Parts: sequence; C-alpha cells; structure tokens
Amino acid sequence: MSACTTTDFPAYRGRMEYLCLGCGARFAIDELHYTCPACGGVFLLQDRSFDSLKETPGAAWRALFDARAATKHDPLRGIFRFYELMAPVVEPSDIVWLGEGNTPVVSASPALRALLGGQRMAFKNDGQNPSASFKDRGMACAFSFLRALMRKKNMKSLLAVCASTGDTSAAAALYAAYVGGGISSVVILPEGKVTPQQLAQPLGSGATVLEVPGVFDDCMKVVEHLADNYDVALLNSKNAWRILGQESYAFEVAQWRDWDLAGVCVFVPIGNAGNITAIMSGFLKLTELGVIAKPPRIFGVQTSHADPVWRYYQKPAAERAFSPVKVRPSVAQAAMIGDPVSFPRVRHFAEKLEQAYGAGAFQVVQVSEQETIEGMLLANRHGHISCTQGGECMAGLLKARDLGLIDTDETAVLDATAHMLKFIGFQDMYFENSFPPEFEITPDPALANRPAPVISAGEKAALSPEAFTVKAAENIVARLGLARK
Ligand SMILES: *Cc1c(COP(=O)(O)O)cnc(C)c1O
Ligand SMILES: [Zn+2]
Repeated sequence: MSACTTTDFPAYRGRMEYLCLGCGARFAIDELHYTCPACGGVFLLQDRSFDSLKETPGAAWRALFDARAATKHDPLRGIFRFYELMAPVVEPSDIVWLGEGNTPVVSASPALRALLGGQRMAFKNDGQNPSASFKDRGMACAFSFLRALMRKKNMKSLLAVCASTGDTSAAAALYAAYVGGGISSVVILPEGKVTPQQLAQPLGSGATVLEVPGVFDDCMKVVEHLADNYDVALLNSKNAWRILGQESYAFEVAQWRDWDLAGVCVFVPIGNAGNITAIMSGFLKLTELGVIAKPPRIFGVQTSHADPVWRYYQKPAAERAFSPVKVRPSVAQAAMIGDPVSFPRVRHFAEKLEQAYGAGAFQVVQVSEQETIEGMLLANRHGHISCTQGGECMAGLLKARDLGLIDTDETAVLDATAHMLKFIGFQDMYFENSFPPEFEITPDPALANRPAPVISAGEKAALSPEAFTVKAAENIVARLGLARK
C-alpha cells in the first residue's frame, strides 16, 4: 500500500464474487447475475482478498483516502477514491466519472438548529450528483464494471434496462449516453408516477422510455422477467454493483467527519432498500478495516403510505415475518415501494449491526405524508435543498426525537437523496392546496408562498417606460414599507 501515491492508480486487485444471501452459493463475476440461479436469493459482492486489506492499519487507510481527495487523476476523483473497497477489479480506462460523489454535508442553518433545541444535524446533499440523485453513485460503479466486462469478453453491444421510480432511469440514461460504445439504455417507468423532471431526464439523454400502467412494483416484475429470460443487463439495485457504488456515501460521511463517527446518527429513506443496504455495508467495511472505530447509528425512514420495512421491525424479533404492502400515493414518490427487492440485504446488515452494537444500532421510524412534505418545507425554508425524501428524513429525525431515540447532542446526518427541483411539483401542490385526497395532506395556508404581481400588464401598457418604472417601484415601496435613504 505504501507504494501507492495519490497520482498512481492503486496496485491492489481483489478477487470478487457474487455471494447469495439465500443459500450462500458463490458465483464468478465473469457473468452478470442478479438473483441466485439455485434459490432465487439476492446477491452481495464480496472480495475474497478483503482480509489482506486488514494488514494495512486504519491510520494508513485514512491517510491514503485523505491524500486521494486531492487527486488530479479522473478515475479516482469520484467514488473510486475508495478503490480498494469499491470494485477493485476494474482498470482506470474502465472507470466512468461524471462528477458523482463527494457531495457536501451541510450543517443545519443556525435558526433550524435553534428551532430544534440545539439539535446537531446536517444534510448530505446527494442531489448534488450529476443526475441530481444518489443513484449516480451506483451507476458509476455498475457502468465501470460493465465496461470492464465488455472489454474482457470482447462484447460489441449491450442493452441495459431498469425499472424506476424516476431517478434510477435518469441516472442509467445519463451514464449510458456518456459511455456509449455499444451500451444503450431502456427505462421502464410507472405511467404518471414519476415527476415531469424525472421523465424529462432519460428522454433528454436519448434513452428508450417505456411506460407501464401501475406502480414501481409492477415495472420491477416486468424488468425481472426480461432479465431472467433475455439478453439484457439489469441496472436496478438488484444489480449488486450498484449497491457497491452506493457504499461510497458511507465512506464520504466518515471522511467528512474526519473518520470520527461517535454520536453520529444517519437517517436514510427506504424505498427498494438498496441505499440503506449500501450505507450499512459501507460503514461495516470501514469498521472491519479499522478506518473508523464503530459505525454510526442507522435510522431508516418510511412514510405510512409505503412502510413494509417499518412494519417488519415494529414486531418483536421472534414474531417478524416480511410481507409486502400495497402502496398508496406518496410525496416521497421515489421511495413508494411496497415490496423492496433489497429487503433480505437490509435484514443481513441490520442483524450484523445489532449483534455487534446492540438494539439501537439499526432502527426504522415511520412518518406521515403530512410530516414528510412539511419536513421538506422546514428544511428548504432554512436554506437547504432537500427533496421530499430528504423531508422524510427530516420528519424521521423529529419522530426519533419524539420517541426519545436520539439526543440533541448526537449529530443527525440526513440523506437528502435528490435535488429539491426534481420533486418541486409536490411543493406546488402544497402551496396551491391541490393534493388529491389519497395523499392525506392538508396544507397549512401560512406556509404557502406565491409570486405577487407588482403591476398589471394593462397598467404597464398605458404608461411611458419611465412612468412604468417609477410606478412599479412605488408599488413595491408601498408593499414592503421601504424607508427612504
Ligand atoms: C431511489 C430513491 C430513494 C429510495 O432508495 P432505495 O435505494 O430504493 O431504498 C429515495 N430517494 C430518492 C430521491 C431516490 O431516487
Ligand atoms: Zn442462493
């Protein structure tokens, strides 16, 4: 490891394999696998050489990752800053970097913190990724691996498909458009269940966009059928390479905190449960290598309109049995999933956390739709750029405080999983009081913010340009009660 400078590409190569969480079977990575051919279980990717990384002390890893934060070498600028923990089977020329990763962790505004009785908290703005959501982390890893695979197998073309609540397809289409080289992308969306911004993204990237009536869970089944029976690459989070890329979120939180996670609680919205899986896995990896002393506490958040994971963990351990739920319309639309594909992965890592660090190491809280949208408004009125799913985390923090699960001197890191602009239609619905009843949201009129006219077009037409300027300014003076200098 000492031979590795910040400009060199790392020398280490791992021996990665798919590991089935259902039956423990292992498969080589020279084929694409999504579910276990033996038992139908989901996979994790494991590096069989991982233990050799433990020979490097934690302090040396910290120094290496900190030095790499200043790299001028494109392949290592993004999630592959953590190359040895990411996908150490790809070569520099395989790595796709579109500027993803290294998103800021922004402390709560002073007023927001004061409002919450001094609660330490911050948003990690994963909406500041290139397609404006965290999905880019996973896509960067998945596409880098696809490139490596195509190179090794001398493949000329590859069709990448995904089902999406909007952001997976935006990310897949963006990366496919950039990478080109025979990779094309098809995205399958639930008709009318993605925002106009999210629909515009894959259209703009030139992907083939197909709509299916129903919700995400319906699309997922169609895509699984395609991946099981036809020659396509699946880009949903069933694809374990995506999970791996999303672990970078955990690595970055740790690095942002200068590798000290004492008293940190990380809040993550749960949809298909890929992201929370990746985050738990990432923190556990860092702990195993001695890069951090222990993982932060992890809080999953679900709204009452799509809460299968919360329902599962509500029950005492002996009585737990997973059952999917039928989702209802949700402002946290990107997480509106009733049968999360990665649930077995969540269970796997939650168990590990609980066994090592006790009952509070992993928890799930449930919030209402009203709390979710108002969580977003609260954040954004204090200078944050949270999407509705980030609002879900904000609401989750408030819920955890109410339930006595977190103290004000602990630091809550809330995952703002996308940029607020992707979900801005829900803000409009709140301000205009136009939510259909199924959302169960009653706007507080005091929070509605609308543009106010200064002068009518008719009045403007009747005035000279100079008179118009003065009149418009006077109207503003009257409205704001401005004092003369
Ligand atoms: C995909 C997505 C989620 C849900 O993440 P999962 O990995 O499916 O649990 C939450 N927020 C946003 C903005 C997303 O795009
Ligand atoms: Zn299996």
